[in-house]
Amino acid sequence: MRFFDPHIHMTSRTTDDLDLMSKAGVRAIVEPAFWLGQSRTQLGTFIDYFNSLLGWERFRASQFGIAHYCAIGLNSKEANNEKLAAQVLELIPRFALKEGVVAIGEIGYDEITPAEERAYIAQLRFAVEHDMVVMVHSPHRDKKRGIRRSLDVARDCGLAMNKLVIDHNNEETVEDVLERGAWAAFTIYPSTKMGSERMVELVKKLRSRAHHRRQLGRLGRQRPALRPEDREADARPRRADGARRAHHLEERARRLRAVGPDRRRRADADARDRPVEALLRQLRAARASAARRRAGSELKARRAQASDRLRQDPEASSSGFTDRTAWSTSVAHVMARADAAGPTCWSQP
Ligand SMILES: [Zn+2]
Repeated sequence: MRFFDPHIHMTSRTTDDLDLMSKAGVRAIVEPAFWLGQSRTQLGTFIDYFNSLLGWERFRASQFGIAHYCAIGLNSKEANNEKLAAQVLELIPRFALKEGVVAIGEIGYDEITPAEERAYIAQLRFAVEHDMVVMVHSPHRDKKRGIRRSLDVARDCGLAMNKLVIDHNNEETVEDVLERGAWAAFTIYPSTKMGSERMVELVKKLRSRAHHRRQLGRLGRQRPALRPEDREADARPRRADGARRAHHLEERARRLRAVGPDRRRRADADARDRPVEALLRQLRAARASAARRRAGSELKARRAQASDRLRQDPEASSSGFTDRTAWSTSVAHVMARADAAGPTCWSQP
């Protein structure tokens, strides 16, 4: 069997561990940036750490046939050293867009302080802007409140819930996460977090709940997949195209505007409007993507036209383009030029 470990800190593991992991079938891992057990006091140590996640750890894992990916972020514990945190946040864009980085993380709350929240929001905004996954670390103390707040703030920043992974869940928090549509992750860590027996029990319970939900077909995001038409809908590709997504977002923005004042989720109007703004931002992006798609299909149609014209052109057929390969080469050539110069300059190559 082959395994993928989506959350591991190789910085604290030896080469023997890599060897054992490889023998056990681990083929790919994600290493999120985190606190190293002792808080850093210099910006340079963050630079070296991020570089080691991107370079050294990747190389080390590759020696054992393991593909190493990482997440870059300022962790919540060190976010409390605000002077240093501000400098680290400026570093994030330099590292987070490099090859091998698959997410922003681990970020979120530890003691649930205002400084942690500021760092969390700054990084969420970056993730939204670059359409990245966010890996969230949840606090050991006051976990339930921390997780709920992580979910709320991520939503208010406009992060799509399917891009949010909340880690270190337990029996008390998992439902909150799943109901919002985010990913619930668990860390099996018998002494302080989840033990494996508890985890097995929880999976059994969630499976029976999921089944129950399927029967009800109303709660959460589950479909009542027992009906054939739902099964068909499930089988359709998930990725909505720009136009469908724009329509969906418009609907959500409209509903959110309509229910906002009644729910009084926030006292001040500005905060209440924030999710709408985030939605509108997504909406503009979806519209742009629909326009790009349309432009793409127009180009395709133009290409087909060019190809037809060339085939029908008596001069082209009388000048030796008889064999299939020569035809397609010349057509490809004409089309490359058509793409470069627009539809008016097609000529025989
Ligand atoms: Zn971790």
